[in-house]
Amino acid sequence: MINRRNFLRNTSLLAAGSLVAGNVGQVKAVNLPARSELKAAKNFGLQIYSLTVRRGEDFTSDVPGGLKKVAAMGYSTLELAGYNSQGRIGAVPMAEFKKYADDAGLKIVSTHVGMSNSLYNKDSMEQAKEFWKRAIDHHAAIGCKYILQPGEPPMRSTEDVAVVGEIFNEAGKIAKAAGMTFGFHNHSGEFMRVVPGGTEKLPLQGRRVPDSKIIFDAMIEATDPELVVFELDVYWAVMGLSDPVEYMKKYPNRIRILHIKDRAVLGESGFMNFQKIFEVAYENNLSDFFVELEGYSGGSQFEGVQGCAEYLMKAPFVK
Ligand code: MG
Repeated sequence: MINRRNFLRNTSLLAAGSLVAGNVGQVKAVNLPARSELKAAKNFGLQIYSLTVRRGEDFTSDVPGGLKKVAAMGYSTLELAGYNSQGRIGAVPMAEFKKYADDAGLKIVSTHVGMSNSLYNKDSMEQAKEFWKRAIDHHAAIGCKYILQPGEPPMRSTEDVAVVGEIFNEAGKIAKAAGMTFGFHNHSGEFMRVVPGGTEKLPLQGRRVPDSKIIFDAMIEATDPELVVFELDVYWAVMGLSDPVEYMKKYPNRIRILHIKDRAVLGESGFMNFQKIFEVAYENNLSDFFVELEGYSGGSQFEGVQGCAEYLMKAPFVK
């Protein structure tokens, strides 16, 4: 069957890039590099966890080749994952990873680095600062712009959020001094509530408890706007029963990066209003968008990641 995907596969990348962008007439020369045409067409990136989440697939055994495939799909930027304190992304030294990205025409813009939960307390502030200093230095050396804590530190009370906020502010200062920006990436749990002196998170819906706060909002209030940004994972916000568009409108200067995510391939679940999300993102002058695909059952991770790119390349509301 000749479906769109097979058609694209069997067409030169140059033509494919132009077709999906709807600008066939603008192709100037047939031997232009495919990459530059695709890059001119759209601006979106990939969180590389999308390719490492399922072990045994071929990304880690051929990182240079894998990144070239990613670029050919239409992605222009990368958000790293898999950093370790020896200065590697997975098994690959970071300088080498950057070279592979450069060779593929992909710009490394962001990285997910998680600090151990055991260091998210007041007594561990010095160790926390050391951890972030090292990770920030490693990423500053490859020209990365954002360093983001990707997982929710333990927060069961308003006081816990304040401690996390203090640690984030310190990490933010270290990042700023290195020319980078520190931030946080959410899942759904941050849309639950906490109370002063609390010992557990409370559901967002249902009985209102006096003085309760939504954790995500409390984190925004507990962090310095000059030092800490937020990468909103739009899918996990929806799974947290919250509206990502409302949040972007409420915090236009704090939410500066988006995770473009759906239950699986973008646009297939029907849960997500990506048109509205991109409209408000552009109104807020956002320019850093990272597709994320978790374990995917419809094919290989590469196929899923390609399906996401095809959705964005085809979507008239994505620039
Ligand atoms: Mg995410």
